[in-house]
Parts: sequence; structure tokens; C-alpha cells
Amino acid sequence: MEPILLPAVWTVFTGYLLWWMLVVKRSEPITADEAKMLWKIHKKNAHCSGQKWEPLRRKGDRIEGFQCECGYQYEQKRPIVAGTHRTSKQVYMNPFEENLTL
Ligand SMILES: [Zn+2]
Repeated sequence: MEPILLPAVWTVFTGYLLWWMLVVKRSEPITADEAKMLWKIHKKNAHCSGQKWEPLRRKGDRIEGFQCECGYQYEQKRPIVAGTHRTSKQVYMNPFEENLTL
């Protein structure tokens, strides 16, 4: 390998590592309004009859998710590279939705 190329490779690698750490550590909080909207979507999708929801892990006026009266939990997490499995797992956590998908 050319000696000049090596620092360039390390720069790219370090940059990638920093970016990765930033993305992994960053969970995007949502507002109470957004949670309410997501809860309404959940109610509609799961034919849920829950009347109440509770915010999860509140940070000031931002929250990281919510729990529905029926036990459904939603956590706002930024998908890491190809992290779509998490979303499908969350769907299966809900007994109402499980009945629908089966
Ligand atoms: Zn529910």
C-alpha cells in the first residue's frame, strides 16, 4: 500500500467510526403531540380500545416513547444500519396486532 494512502484510510475510518457512534447513541425524542399521533395510529391499526397512554422516559418536553393502556409500547429509536427488525418486533409485542398479522 502507498504510504500516502494510509493516513487517508485512517481518516475515513475514524470519520466512519465517529459517525457510527453518533448514530447509535442518538435516540430521537418525540414531542407529546407526536406521541399522541402515533398512539392514535396504533389504536387504529391494532383496533385498540385503550383510552389512555403514558409517556416513556420523559426528557423535558420530549419523550422517548409511550405506553398504551392495552400494554403496547412504542419506543422512538433511530434505525441503525438495516435496523428494521426492531420495528417488526415491536409489532409482535402487541397481542392485538399479532392476531391481525397471523
Ligand atoms: Zn393500545
